[in-house]
Amino acid sequence: MPALAFVCAVAILCLVLAILQYRWIATVSEAERDRLRADLDRQIKLLTDEFNTRLNALRGLVPQPSEIDSLGVETAYLRRWQRFDKKSFVKRAAVAIRVDDRLELHRLDSSFKLFDWPEDWSDLREQMIARLSDRGGGSMTENEPSLIEYPRFGKDGREHEWLVIEISIEYTRNVLLPELIRQRFGSAPEFDLQIVFEKGPSLVLFGAGRDRMPDASGRLFEVQYGGPPGPHAGRWVLNAWRTAGPLDDVVNRAKYLNLTVSTTIFLMISAAAWALLQYTRKAYRLADVQMNFVAGISHELRTPLSVIATAAYNLRGRVAQNPAQVEKYGALIQDEADKLTGIVEQVLLYAGSKAGHVIRQREPVLLDAIIAESVQSSRTLFDKANCVVETRIEDHLPVILGDAMALRQVIKNLINNAVKYGTEGGNWVGIFASSNEDRSQVEVRVADRGPGIPLQEQEHIFDAFYRGRQAIADQIHGTGLGLNLVKQIIEAHEGTISVRSDPGHGAEFVIRIPAAAPQYQDEFSHTFG
Ligand code: ADP
Repeated sequence: MPALAFVCAVAILCLVLAILQYRWIATVSEAERDRLRADLDRQIKLLTDEFNTRLNALRGLVPQPSEIDSLGVETAYLRRWQRFDKKSFVKRAAVAIRVDDRLELHRLDSSFKLFDWPEDWSDLREQMIARLSDRGGGSMTENEPSLIEYPRFGKDGREHEWLVIEISIEYTRNVLLPELIRQRFGSAPEFDLQIVFEKGPSLVLFGAGRDRMPDASGRLFEVQYGGPPGPHAGRWVLNAWRTAGPLDDVVNRAKYLNLTVSTTIFLMISAAAWALLQYTRKAYRLADVQMNFVAGISHELRTPLSVIATAAYNLRGRVAQNPAQVEKYGALIQDEADKLTGIVEQVLLYAGSKAGHVIRQREPVLLDAIIAESVQSSRTLFDKANCVVETRIEDHLPVILGDAMALRQVIKNLINNAVKYGTEGGNWVGIFASSNEDRSQVEVRVADRGPGIPLQEQEHIFDAFYRGRQAIADQIHGTGLGLNLVKQIIEAHEGTISVRSDPGHGAEFVIRIPAAAPQYQDEFSHTFG
């Protein structure tokens, strides 16, 4: 079946696409994560570079040897200091000078006064004193969070004096870093920062920490003495956390969003393909049913037509002289013509129902009258089938609003079916009408004791053109339109129709139609007493 193959192909294609899409999304997420991470790393690097540049501008406070030679130590340092314009970055500055075996500390401000070693510089002092007798090298402040010492070497290659600078943590924290961050990232950065002292992370220099791994890290406070920076230079560690949550979370969220969208599209395509298959099947089935109808109706028409033709032929011949025979053939022609009319009427009714004219105007009607008329007009049918009709109709049925002609057609169709299909087991047809307790609806049941309707056919018998398997096999006349018309008419009356059938034990069609509004009931009771 080509439709099925098509749907299978679409499903396989969708599956392949889904797998490709899934892989693609994974790759894209990976790339997106790398991009975001690299971006953050780059931003952090720019920030730390900027800070380190500011920091290393302090080296400009150390005079050149030529300046010392021409101006002397004191004037050379003081002049440098006076010209220095970032004084608030410096909390304290001093020059430690080697005088023979002693160490003199001069405050670097406008004075150059001798200066007692501050308590918190004591480690540095001890190292420097050791350095006096020893030719060691390297930084003496690398374990200090905010102290820097810049040595100046004499011609003998020994350290003559040191410029000692203690940078201002307050200024760094409250002015410099906020300014750098604002310059680089604007007023609403996408991440929170914390800066701690590497050798003692409990010393927080800036910001607040988070309880998860940082998304990016960098180093600050990278003191340059002239040579290139070491591999892990930088005494402060900077950690950055994205405010939007961990990088993985952000990327995963995007990934799941992508996946949800693709899954939804995938499901929609599958649903569309499935619906297409259903529609195609339905169309096939309908085409099939219509073909059957055309074949069936032609057959239906042919039988009465050939009977009529034969009867007419006979009437023109010998039979014409015999009045009894004429009467017989006349009745035959009438019968067959009635059958033809019935078929044509049903087809016309069906065509009318498709155009939306299943019933005409609705007016107050009494179902008992309609049932009585229908039974009466089916009298010959019952007699021919040798069939007992049992009618039980409740007194004073509520009035309904309906199209009397259409309703007669309903009852007639049901009676016809009961006789056609249901008079094998026992020749009995029952017609019952009653109202419910609060008289809000009328129920009509048409029952027979025939073979009933197989379970799998019960849901189809109300479809247009549908004929039961047994009906076709037994060549029982019909168009397959009767029950469809019945259902359409009942539904046009806001009613329902259902079938109860225990195969082998007859069938019972149950119609329920809502009663008319109370004012109609009263009107009718006056009219009819
Ligand atoms: P038709 O009688 O022209 O075939 P209907 O729409 O009236 O068309 O009925 C559809 C089918 O329902 C019938 O072909 C038959 O198989 C089944 N059917 C209807 N009424 C009965 C019944 N009383 N007992 C058993 N089968 C029935």
